[in-house]
Amino acid sequence: MDEFEIIRRYFDRGIPTEGTVVGIGDDGAIVSPSPGKQLVAVVDTLVEDVHFPAGLGPDDIGYRAVAVNLSDVAAMGADPRWMTLSLAMPVANERWLQYFSEGLLAAAAEHAVQLVGGDTTSAPQIVVSVQVLGEVETGRAILRNGARPGDTIFVTGTVGDAAAGLHGLEHGGVPKELASRFSRPSARVRYGQSLVGIATAAIDISDGLYADLGKLLAASGVGAEIDIGSLPISTALRESFPVAEQRNFALTGGDDYELCFTSASDPPDPGFMALTAIGTVVEGKGINCTIDGEPVEFDDPGYLHFK
Ligand code: ADP
Ligand code: MG
Repeated sequence: MDEFEIIRRYFDRGIPTEGTVVGIGDDGAIVSPSPGKQLVAVVDTLVEDVHFPAGLGPDDIGYRAVAVNLSDVAAMGADPRWMTLSLAMPVANERWLQYFSEGLLAAAAEHAVQLVGGDTTSAPQIVVSVQVLGEVETGRAILRNGARPGDTIFVTGTVGDAAAGLHGLEHGGVPKELASRFSRPSARVRYGQSLVGIATAAIDISDGLYADLGKLLAASGVGAEIDIGSLPISTALRESFPVAEQRNFALTGGDDYELCFTSASDPPDPGFMALTAIGTVVEGKGINCTIDGEPVEFDDPGYLHFK
């Protein structure tokens, strides 16, 4: 199967949708953003054995490669519209490509994102790089740098599940619903868009709540106080690990793709998922963690492991 055949069979879905002037097949894609909107460009690369275990199903790899990008677009409050795919793999395995493209295109279809181009090549291990273009009303994107002292810090959904799930994929003994938080993350695309004009700053949680909130705070030049007891932890995570472990996962586990944002006003009710206030933005820098008002001590501050 040559490159042309791979593209035709698995990736070219014909009929460009609105805003796509030239899709797959020419040297480059041409897209027309809506009047009055700016483009938001994001890219994320997944390397086999680095960002996902070699045993992860090809459909999940495809789904995840898109979802992690949709999550970045969501954190900007933007509407994802187009994507390109750079795919490197050792051999062109038909079954693998079939499942991979199904997962990839399913994640894209959920948010009406069109695959408009890409590159297909060989490499010693699987490397999937997806780029997404989204649009947002000019000047209205939510950035990381707008948090101000007094703002409340919110987190969507639950955190720690994906890291616990990855642990389960690698070592077993963890409920399926946690594993699927890793393999099939839900990007909070619509909710992110609803935060435009409300959130003062936002970031999606890919490296872990503590690390990512830290980036938002640093970009805004402020600090935070957060209450560890208030972290949104799912029932599945509660039932699978002791409290200290749950909190480790919730605070330091990556790959949840929830949104963490700050706001001076009441955010919209997301309805279908949890929304939790976990703390407050303060002057200064860094994150002060407390449990029931008491400062938290970590075993090793580098890893935030609870005693
Ligand atoms: P070029 O050599 O000009 O870069 P290619 O032969 O690599 O073009 O690709 C032909 C067309 O197929 C281009 O429009 C390109 O964007 C698209 N394409 C290549 N690989 C993929 C892929 N994995 N998914 C979607 N489109 C792809
Ligand atoms: Mg060319």
